[in-house]
Amino acid sequence: MSDIIILGTGPAGISAAAYTTRAGLKTTVIGRDGGALLKAHQIENYYGFSQPVSGEELIRTGMEQARRLGAEIVNDEVVGIAYDGEFVASGISGTYRAPAMILATGASRGAPKLEGLRRLEGRGVSYCAVCDAFFYRGKHVAVLGNGEYALHEAMELLPVAGSVTLLTNGKEPSVEIPEEIKVVTQKLDRLEGDPVLTGVVLEDGGTVPVSGLFVAMGVAGSTDLARKLGAQTKGSAIVVDSSMQTNIPGLFAAGDCTGGMLQVAKAVYEGAQAAAGAIKLVRERKNA
Ligand SMILES: Cc1cc2nc3c(=O)[nH]c(=O)nc-3n(C[C@H](O)[C@H](O)[C@H](O)COP(=O)(O)OP(=O)(O)OC[C@H]3O[C@@H](n4cnc5c(N)ncnc54)[C@H](O)[C@@H]3O)c2cc1C
Repeated sequence: MSDIIILGTGPAGISAAAYTTRAGLKTTVIGRDGGALLKAHQIENYYGFSQPVSGEELIRTGMEQARRLGAEIVNDEVVGIAYDGEFVASGISGTYRAPAMILATGASRGAPKLEGLRRLEGRGVSYCAVCDAFFYRGKHVAVLGNGEYALHEAMELLPVAGSVTLLTNGKEPSVEIPEEIKVVTQKLDRLEGDPVLTGVVLEDGGTVPVSGLFVAMGVAGSTDLARKLGAQTKGSAIVVDSSMQTNIPGLFAAGDCTGGMLQVAKAVYEGAQAAAGAIKLVRERKNA
């Protein structure tokens, strides 16, 4: 088992790993791709490069640095996190456990543009199956998404809800969907219901009557993951204290996922700060 799991192999995650490995913590870093830096062609405002450097180059050298220092870097997509005395990250390819965790999964995606979505948040629209499934016992619910993350959320709901429909909003499912889950691939027009959600209206005018809609598009974002453990979020940012710890002891967050300035320098600083907090916590627990 690792001493710490870091979710994200961007500047925040890799910076954190540089500190945790050098402090002797067995460190596992999980990432699914290069993150925001993949889109940054030229960076010339980060310390130490006399010439512009590409985001891809920064990712490559960062990963090499973390590996050289002893971090285990795993390529996986995390679809859920939980706490059972240790932090547990569930990936598509494996399960990872540690007494401390740093979320460094970058900025959260915005919510889909769907009429009624914002208005019905907390009134039928949810972003966390494990948190809210209980409220939909025996009721008809839908999951909005078409990938591994949507399937994971649908599977959380299946034992509890009366029925689960996957709404892919015009996309084909990218994973195999068990037959207990109904799949509707038509594009969505809007959500209806006042004051609470009663259904999802499709582009052709048909309606899927549901009491709950769980948004799980694309990959689980940082706030999606944070909410699964009850960590406090504000808008699309995870709320942290000055040591980058969330309101859940042992769960830290760093980089774009905490909001503010979305820059490499800030991600690197926060990664280091989160690592310092996590190192202290792991050492205290080992000596307890
Ligand atoms: C086009 C563009 C240009 C930019 N130019 C600059 C610039 O010039 N200067 C500058 O300072 N900054 C720039 N930035 C911003 C900079 O890229 C980010 O601030 C920085 O990368 C944030 O680092 P991070 O580690 O927080 O997140 P990211 O770099 O986004 O890394 C997130 C990591 O989390 C992983 N991840 C996410 N979800 C999951 C999941 N469910 N399971 C497993 N892994 C997951 C990703 O694979 C990735 O490894 C630019 C960004 C963009 C998009």
